[in-house]
Amino acid sequence: MFELHKAVANPAHIGLDLVGIAAGAPLDLDLRVESVSEGVLVSGTVSAPWHGECRRCLAPLSGASSVEVRELYEPHAREGETYPLRHEHVDLEPLAREALLLELPLAPLCRADCLGICPTCGADLNEGPCGCAPAARDPRWAALDDLRLGE
Ligand SMILES: [Zn+2]
Ligand SMILES: [Zn+2]
Repeated sequence: MFELHKAVANPAHIGLDLVGIAAGAPLDLDLRVESVSEGVLVSGTVSAPWHGECRRCLAPLSGASSVEVRELYEPHAREGETYPLRHEHVDLEPLAREALLLELPLAPLCRADCLGICPTCGADLNEGPCGCAPAARDPRWAALDDLRLGE
C-alpha cells in the first residue's frame, strides 16, 4: 500500500465549452493505492478547478470540484465497472477524468435568480430592465407584415 499526493497538469480539456476543466489546470490527486485479492484498489480524492459561463447571462464563473473515488483496477476489467490493470500498471488519468466529469455543474448559473440577457438587445437584465417590449416580434415576420399592408 502506498499513498500518492501529487498535482499533475490536466493533459486534456475535460467537459464542455459551457463548463470544463482546462488542459493544463492542476489535478490534485490525494490517493491511496493498495493491493487487494482482485487487483489494485485506488481510493481517495481527486480535485480540480473548473471554469465556465453562466448559462443565462454568460458571465464567467469558476469553482473547484472535489470528488471522492474508490475504484478497482483488475487484469480483466469489466466495462464501466472497473479499470484495467496492465503489467501492474495503474493509469490514473481515466479515473480522474471520469470522476471529475461527473462532478462538473451541468448548467451553471452565476446566481439562482439570474435574469439572463435580453433576447432582443442583448443587455444584461441583471443590471436593470433594458426597455425592450417584453414580447418583441420575431424580425423574420416583418416581411409578412409588409405583405399584409400591401393588400
Ligand atoms: Zn448569470
Ligand atoms: Zn432589450
